[in-house]
Amino acid sequence: MDFGLTDEQQGYVDTVRKFVKNEITPSVMKLEEEHKFPKEIIDKAWELGLLNLCVPESIKGYELDLVSTALVIEELSYGDTGISTSAMCNDLANAVISQHGSDEQKEKLLGPFIEAPILSSFCLTEPGAGSDNSAMTSFIKKGDDGKYVLNGDKCFITNASYASQFTVFCKVGKPASQLIACVVIPSTLISEEKVNPSNESRELTLHGGGKIFTSKPEDKLGQRLSNTASVTFEDVIVDKDQIIGDRRMGFKYLIDVLDYARPMVAAIGVGLARRAFDVTLEYTKERKQFGQRICDIPVARDTLVQMWKKVELAELALMKAAIKVQEKAPDRGMYASLAKNVAAEAALFCANEGLHLHGGYGFMSEYEISKLARDAHIIDIYEGVREVQNMIIGWELV
Ligand SMILES: Cc1cc2nc3c(=O)[nH]c(=O)nc-3n(C[C@H](O)[C@H](O)[C@H](O)COP(=O)(O)OP(=O)(O)OC[C@H]3O[C@@H](n4cnc5c(N)ncnc54)[C@H](O)[C@@H]3O)c2cc1C
Repeated sequence: MDFGLTDEQQGYVDTVRKFVKNEITPSVMKLEEEHKFPKEIIDKAWELGLLNLCVPESIKGYELDLVSTALVIEELSYGDTGISTSAMCNDLANAVISQHGSDEQKEKLLGPFIEAPILSSFCLTEPGAGSDNSAMTSFIKKGDDGKYVLNGDKCFITNASYASQFTVFCKVGKPASQLIACVVIPSTLISEEKVNPSNESRELTLHGGGKIFTSKPEDKLGQRLSNTASVTFEDVIVDKDQIIGDRRMGFKYLIDVLDYARPMVAAIGVGLARRAFDVTLEYTKERKQFGQRICDIPVARDTLVQMWKKVELAELALMKAAIKVQEKAPDRGMYASLAKNVAAEAALFCANEGLHLHGGYGFMSEYEISKLARDAHIIDIYEGVREVQNMIIGWELV
């Protein structure tokens, strides 16, 4: 086993580190304070090739392996996990098309992401269906003309206020159906967009018929640089060619997407944990109490060691999961869940203990550690809460 990076992987890491240093770190605290969606930074990341990593080479995409993808996301997250969440959300929404779409669908639905810095949303969660996504009630129903009509409400959707394309998981036939389909509403079908400037909600009218409404963006505890809003699909006409793969196999496709995406969330956690460790180490090397640097006080030194260990072990779990998923190993799901849990734990531990080692200064919003402590919580929640990951591991074990 080789823990070294290939020249290409090192190249990615160096590129993203430079991008974070020059484009994110200098402005991140100001953007955070303004709670402004950093579309310009995301556009620059797109220009550098840091978005849409799952798009196949056949349509001029990068088709990056999962280890390299994890490295890119970890480095981007070292800069800001709101930005990396928005960036990786395109792959979350597009992975199902890469994995299960026809050649024609890949060309039509993924091609635009290579041409321009557009964003996509992955629409799974509903007000009554969070951890238990089988309880979703959004559904498509076939009309007499052979076309389907989509209705339903999704919540907590990343990129929703800016998305040009929506990947939607929904029931087939009726809300209580056992079958789940995956449909995609592409930007080419949007004929008109009305934005309400007072609350930034949107009303999108579609060529084929129907509307998509995106709500006012959510005001969040953390990851304030990612955009999150609700999405309502009202009588949206869906052609057969917008349904990915077999319309009854959506649940299987969903598991494939989450296996692919959970290591990416783990990478977000590792990036945040490493950032929290670095800012804390720097702070405790400078701050003196009782005539010595905080980092030289044995108990504080021990906390720093524990933080470092969490980061390193989470990185190992992340790499193992990325390799397992890349190789399509039969037990990849449990390793993806393990990596997500371990990385979330590392992020929370490093951010909370890091804040503690900053003393009262850590509680002040001008210190980055306070932002990291707020950002860390969501890593333990989105793409499946900790308990759901343990449930998946438990199933596999017994
Ligand atoms: C900032 C943000 C961005 C998001 N982005 C997206 C997105 O782009 N697309 C999308 O579809 N969704 C997105 N989500 C939704 C996210 O995936 C869900 O919030 C998450 O899956 C949890 O669902 P829930 O909030 O309904 O919590 P619930 O399912 O109501 O769970 C609440 C708590 O109950 C407990 N619990 C639940 N189930 C179990 C169980 N089986 N065993 C033991 N305890 C349990 C846990 O403690 C859990 O934390 C996002 C959420 C946020 C906050």
